[in-house]
Amino acid sequence: MRLALRVAILIVLSALALVSAPARADAAPPRGEPAIYVVQPGDTLFAIAARYQTTVAAIKQLNHLNSDTIQVGQKLLVPIDDTRATLALPAPRSSAHIVQPGDTLYRLALRYGTTPRAIMQLNGISSPDLIAPGQSLAIPNHPTLKPGLIIEPTTARQGSTLVIRVAHPDLASVAGAFNGRPLRFTRAGGYAYALVPISRCAKIGAVPLTLTTTDTTGQSVTEGTTISVTSTAFSVQNIALPPSVSAILNNQSLVRREAQELAAIVSRYTPTRLWNGAWRLPVYGAITSAFGTRRSYNGGAVGACGHEGTDFGMETGDPVYAPARGRIVFADTTQVRGKLVVIDHGIGVLSGYYHLSEINTQVGQIVDVGAIIGRVGSTGLSTGSHLHWSVWVNGEYVDPLEWTRRLIP
Ligand SMILES: [Zn+2]
Repeated sequence: MRLALRVAILIVLSALALVSAPARADAAPPRGEPAIYVVQPGDTLFAIAARYQTTVAAIKQLNHLNSDTIQVGQKLLVPIDDTRATLALPAPRSSAHIVQPGDTLYRLALRYGTTPRAIMQLNGISSPDLIAPGQSLAIPNHPTLKPGLIIEPTTARQGSTLVIRVAHPDLASVAGAFNGRPLRFTRAGGYAYALVPISRCAKIGAVPLTLTTTDTTGQSVTEGTTISVTSTAFSVQNIALPPSVSAILNNQSLVRREAQELAAIVSRYTPTRLWNGAWRLPVYGAITSAFGTRRSYNGGAVGACGHEGTDFGMETGDPVYAPARGRIVFADTTQVRGKLVVIDHGIGVLSGYYHLSEINTQVGQIVDVGAIIGRVGSTGLSTGSHLHWSVWVNGEYVDPLEWTRRLIP
């Protein structure tokens, strides 16, 4: 019955989409006269759209273009939306480089203290071989602390995952520590990167980062800097628990033992990274409790360290999808977290799915992004049907949603 209803809704939605598509094309154009732009060598529609803060689709529509191919010297109308002028737009975070004979993305990345991938993303380039002399490339401006050291994002917020990237023309090895904890670096070409979890209850303030890079001649350099950890405005939530559920919660030894067992599972480090790209969401549903939300149960004291994941309000039986490729390392029933699946994505990154009604996978299985790993439920310490999603980096809980909004690494 529910399935039939959903299929019906989907059909109505797709019908609406078909009806509204032509209507959207006739919608009022953005206010302001379009600008005339003469295509320069190396321009792409993507780069022009980025420069004028519009979209490739808008430029194609305005110029009646059927393909993305443009010619040097061609005049294009570019939509100018003057409503944007009233918005506080951030300063452009890129500069331009005209590709010279012999340039490669790798060399440009080293010169500008960025990565080939970041240049490719900014310019909409699909393959690193697709650059040609004379082409104008936008180069991302990373605020670098030291040449060859890039830290993303630039603010280390509580709950965030930092990427520390070290670039060096002939890097043999790199080691380092953040707040005294050793970093594990992964090599990617001439780069090495480490993922650093900022705990949701991390102390605010400057945290020391030390790095030792060794080049292929055996020369080592040790440098130190500090990273400023900033607070995240986590909300506070009151949760009323029925007596049966609070009995489990009040059993501190049980709660602690399960937390320790889970910590042992999620602190593993598998050297191969199994995923690629930004993650998808594990379910389609509204968020009912955000990561880090500080909780009071039945009017008790607010916990010092907030919610260890993101909750989605769902119905029992709704499918739960793997948000990224990985290997199943736990698929069993626990007392607090109910039916629990844990995926190891490699290089210290794991994700967990709590309170499932059904587990549709088994330990050892490699799951691709989008594979169904279980069904939403309300098993364990839960007051209603929902999915709890946790992500760990080096055993520390981090904000799962950040993994769907950023490319990490
Ligand atoms: Zn939860």
